[in-house]
Amino acid sequence: AAELYSIENNDASGQPLPVIVPRAGHPISRANISPSALRVLYRLREGGFQAFLVGGAVRDLLLGLHPKDFDIATDAHPEEVRKLFRNCRLIGRRFHLAHVRFGMEIIEVATFRAAHTEVDEDHGVDETGHRVLDEHGRILRDNLYGTIEEDVWRRDFTANALYYNIEDYSIWDYVGGVPDAEARVLRLIGDAETRYREDPVRMLRAARFAGKLGFTLHPGTEAPLHRLAYMLDSVPAARLFDETMKLLLAGSAVPSFDMLVSLGLLPHLMPDVAAALAEAPDSPGARLLRLGLENTDQRVRADKSVTPTFLFAVLLWPAILRAVDAPNGPLPDDPQLLSSACDAVMSQQLRRIAVPKRFGLPMRDLLLMQPRFERRSGRRALRLLDHPKFRAAYDFLVLRAAAGEVDPEVADWWTRLQEMPEEQRIAEVESRPREATDAAPRARSRSRRRRRRPAAT
Ligand code: ATP
Ligand code: MG
Repeated sequence: AAELYSIENNDASGQPLPVIVPRAGHPISRANISPSALRVLYRLREGGFQAFLVGGAVRDLLLGLHPKDFDIATDAHPEEVRKLFRNCRLIGRRFHLAHVRFGMEIIEVATFRAAHTEVDEDHGVDETGHRVLDEHGRILRDNLYGTIEEDVWRRDFTANALYYNIEDYSIWDYVGGVPDAEARVLRLIGDAETRYREDPVRMLRAARFAGKLGFTLHPGTEAPLHRLAYMLDSVPAARLFDETMKLLLAGSAVPSFDMLVSLGLLPHLMPDVAAALAEAPDSPGARLLRLGLENTDQRVRADKSVTPTFLFAVLLWPAILRAVDAPNGPLPDDPQLLSSACDAVMSQQLRRIAVPKRFGLPMRDLLLMQPRFERRSGRRALRLLDHPKFRAAYDFLVLRAAAGEVDPEVADWWTRLQEMPEEQRIAEVESRPREATDAAPRARSRSRRRRRRPAAT
């Protein structure tokens, strides 16, 4: 750790100095920076403050990628930032971030933080867990803000700790982030074990950046991870939900999920899913999960919508098939078995990842609809088409067929049915023979369902 801090550049007072990469020495062009971010940077500078583009934006621009947002760091205090912009709101309980709005775009401006305040950008609004409170729980503001030299050390990876200076368009690098980014190496700043212990979510961030950017974890950054994975168990489930969304709904779900597996993090995030995949790595459920993640990535890349509802359906399916004791299908005849397996898997999972009900309930609906696709005779088959979750459930059926769990003929039939005009649909379902497997057990389960319906809704 020590050698990482000692970039051999210190001023007379022993302060670390950055390696400064001048404009001519790096490829970051203002043409690729959001005009709104540039406006904020220039205005801060005109106000007499330091202003830097920071974090993922500098990293991505250096790599020739398009940043998804542009964060700014400054020595101006939030109140000073607010005075410079009309379209500015201070956010967070302690108002330590400023949001400057330009139409749909929000530029986040953070004041340099003191070295010992441990704040992450997304959850930094809640200061209660930090050591900068007085005995009444009030923030000691003077301790909160610091200099750029302090700000840099609380960042996670070297490639995320680069500062692009609007003054002369140079990059300030205190931690060797430029060579690491160029070599595509992900390296924690400081002592890796300490940094993971401070905030175990950094382990998930490591998986995310490695997956998304194709970076290799530096050996010192990877080594403690396997040992410390258990620390994810104590991270609040709400934060794990947010982090899981960033991992899996950002266009790199497949490589990121693979990183979760290879780094040994999955058993702590989704224990039942990890167990199901380990037991039956080539099962239809495992294949469905993979196809579902590939699908998700394609949709993100095509700018189509993706939802946690469908994502969690895909993730949990291997665990649900395992819970009904049919890892290779078919689903049990009794729909009650599927619904209790679904509820058991879901309630276990919710203890780790707080999936909000608005996603969890429709997810349950689309999963419990699956057996109904097998019954294609009579008008009740048509009623399925009118179900509000039909489209998602049908998409899921198509994945199950592609994964080899369901006869592809079934999925094709539903595809064709949707394309038919109304009259033809009726003729089609009425001409179908009653399903052979349908008779005896079906009659039982149908009457049972009828009785249960009022309780279930
Ligand atoms: P993305 O491109 O996904 O937005 P990012 O690097 O910008 O990636 P953010 O989560 O937006 O990641 O965080 C912005 C910056 O804040 C990071 O680059 C990093 O410097 C710092 N940061 C965020 N979370 C943490 C954390 N948990 N620990 C330390 N530093 C963090
Ligand atoms: Mg960011």
